[in-house]
Order: sequence, then structure tokens, then C-alpha cells
Amino acid sequence: MIQAAGHADALRLDRLDASQTWQQRYEQSLMGVFGTPQELLTHGEGCWVVDSQGRELLDMLGGIAVNALGHAHPALVKGLAEQAGQLLHISNLFTSVPQMRLAEMLLNTAQAPDGSRVFFANSGSEANEAALKAVLRHRKQTGARRILALEGGFHGRTVGALSLTHKPAFRDPFGELIEGIEFLPPDDLDALENAFSAEAGAGGGVAGIFLEPIQGEAGVRPLSAQYLLRARELTRKHGALLVFDEVQTGIGRTGEWFRFQGAARELGERVPEEPVGASQEASDLTPDLMTLAKGLGSGVPVGALVAFGAESGALLGAGQHGSTFGGNPLAALAGQITLETIQSEGLLENTQRLGSQIAVGLRELPGVVEVRQFGLHLGADLAPSSYPGAQEPAKVLVTAARERYGLIINATGPHTIRLAPPLILNETDVQEFFARFGAAVRELSA
Ligand SMILES: *Cc1c(COP(=O)(O)O)cnc(C)c1O
Repeated sequence: MIQAAGHADALRLDRLDASQTWQQRYEQSLMGVFGTPQELLTHGEGCWVVDSQGRELLDMLGGIAVNALGHAHPALVKGLAEQAGQLLHISNLFTSVPQMRLAEMLLNTAQAPDGSRVFFANSGSEANEAALKAVLRHRKQTGARRILALEGGFHGRTVGALSLTHKPAFRDPFGELIEGIEFLPPDDLDALENAFSAEAGAGGGVAGIFLEPIQGEAGVRPLSAQYLLRARELTRKHGALLVFDEVQTGIGRTGEWFRFQGAARELGERVPEEPVGASQEASDLTPDLMTLAKGLGSGVPVGALVAFGAESGALLGAGQHGSTFGGNPLAALAGQITLETIQSEGLLENTQRLGSQIAVGLRELPGVVEVRQFGLHLGADLAPSSYPGAQEPAKVLVTAARERYGLIINATGPHTIRLAPPLILNETDVQEFFARFGAAVRELSA
């Protein structure tokens, strides 16, 4: 299915030292923060990757919601090769056409009003750092002290982004982080109202709130459209900044360009069908700030902060933020090609259609008790009793799927698996997925 070219090349270093396995080499040279990787991969095509044994694996995780165009997409391969022959990097003392083009495309797809602006970073954490700095500017200007985020939320591993991330296992090893951040239970309207109430305000006003419209690392758990709307109303009323972290949900993952647009649609709002290039009305759920990364560059590291409206767009002034690599021509072109291809190949529609198809199929499988699906962003909970003897059925299933059925998925918790395949997924891939995943589920529940 995949051409073997590149495979031998990628492995040639191993031939120099056949006395060591790749696992030994990894452990002796890489910091242990990720544990030992599951496989050594050499190349890929579409939704498929090949490991060091030459085995083909169906990639239903897409580099954790990153490879929107799959592996080795011809448009990306050609465009990036040409760009490498022109300019890779020029510093932010200069600009390039891809940089401006990508910024314009993001503003158009996000229905951003006049005065809106984009800042380019290199990762989701960095995009959130930029957003946090904008909120800190607002905090300094207004004197509103408190910053809100949600339990179960994930915003990244750098110090600012980690301060916004609730999970104790990620934070506790580091002691004190940025102060003034409070965590609310997710999707709890009363807790949200209370946080903005006069009583809570005695501890200082709210400078901003960080929300993932769908909590990805928590297992694809959505905030309701009502909750997002209430957050929009309360932040507007109290002069606080509303930040949507769409690092995982943005750029077509949920079958809409951005999840906030899908939520707006659920509230009965019109969302444009042909967003790129057309000028549109802003949505009622438009945040003040939105962060992007993961799928934006289809595998090339690109992050972005979109600031909506002139006030937000001016929060970070000249000299107040920066990045050496952010928005360089190569990264920006990867983003541009990703957005263009999503549109030209009808991938939003593909994502909606195949996502629903997968959800229907998953719900029919033994041991699957709940499926949450938004386009090709899927979380499935397994019954605690599935797979006798397994404390963590999701992990057991993930390992079995990979080792015995050539299928890549992941577990976000002991009972929850996540799928975030490339948006270029096709019907044949879906059939392959069910052949492999169904077999793994049946083997384990037998
Ligand atoms: C992955 C993720 C991040 C962090 O992105 P990195 O590129 O790993 O820094 C932040 N927020 C959300 C919602 C994510 O899913």
C-alpha cells in the first residue's frame, strides 16, 4: 500500500550499530519524559504509517490530532519542497507572502471582525503563553486580579500554560506556578455564575477565563453551547477576556473550522458555508482570544493566537511579545496549504460524514458504553467490567490494537479511548478501522 522508498534509508543508522535495539538507543539518548515509545516509524502515506519491521499501521490518532492532511500529502510535499528552495526562515524583521496569507485565512475562517490580528507561535503551549500574556496585560491595565480555568483542562506544559492546566500530576512536581488562577468544575453554570458574583469579586475582578470548548485530553468532553454562551455574556458584562483554547478542536477537527462555530450553530446561529475569503458577520460566541496549533500545520509546528476585534488585537503592543521562528515562511506555508486543502478537498464535510459513521459503528461494539463525537474528534468510554482482570481496559485495548491488529489509537484515561484521525480519512480506511478495532474488542471481551 505504501512505497518502500525511504524505509531502508531511515534505518541505515541502525545497521551501523546492530548490537543495540532502537529502544536501547532511545533510552540512552532521549530524556525520559515520554517513557519508551511504542514503535519506531519510518514513513507513511495517507492514514497509514510503517514501523521498523515494515509493518503497516492504520493511524487513527494522526499524531494526536495533528496530521490533518495525513502523511505525505502531495500538496504539502510539493509546496514545502518548493518553499525550502526559496526561503525557510527570515526572522520577524521581515515578512513573507505565506505569513500574511495564513493570517488572513485564519481571520476569514474565524469570522473575525475588523481590527482582529494574528500572532504566530510554534506550538499550542506557546500560543497559550501569548494569550496569557495578553490576559496579564489586561489584568495590569484593569486591576482585575483573577484568572479562571477549568478542572480537567489542558493548556500545555510551559510554565504559563501549565499554570492554567489543572491536573496535579502535571503541576505538583514544580511547586509554585503563576498565581491568581482559579479552577472551576467544567460545564457547571452555577460555578461559573458564582465566580463572577459580587462575593467572589471581593477577591478581585476576573481578568480572563481560559476554556477548551471540548476538553480533549480529558477524553473529548464538550462544554455545552449554553455554557459557552453564558461565559461569553458574563465576560462581556464584567469586562473580562474570553479565551478559547482551540489547539485541539480548531482547523476542521470537529467538522467546522472552529468548535465555537459549531456550538454557535447548535444555538441556532448561521455559520457561513464558504468561509475562506468571504467576509462574514461575527458569531455570538466569538471569543476575545483563540489559540490554535496541532492541526494547523498538518505536522509542521505552527501555533497561532487570534485576537478578535481592535481592542484584543492591540493588547500586545510593539516589543511586548515575540518569537524567533513564529510564522516563518515554511511553517506559514504549511498552514496555508492545510487550510486550502481542507477547503478544496471538501474535508469539513468529509469529517462530519465519516465521524458520524464511526460513532454509529462504535456504539454497536460490545463493552462501549458511551461515545462522544464531534467530526473526527471522538472519545469512547469502555464499561469498567470490560476485559476481565484489566484495571485499565482502555490501555489494554490500545496495546492489543497496535500489536495484534496494526491500529493506532490512544487512551486518555483508564476507561476512555480517543480517535483523532487525519481529516483526509476515506471510506476504505473506516472499513479497515472497524475490521481491526472490532477484532481487537472481540478478542478482549471473549
Ligand atoms: C495539545 C494541546 C495544547 C498544548 O500544545 P503543545 O503543542 O503540545 O504545546 C494546549 N491546549 C490544548 C487544548 C491541547 O490539546
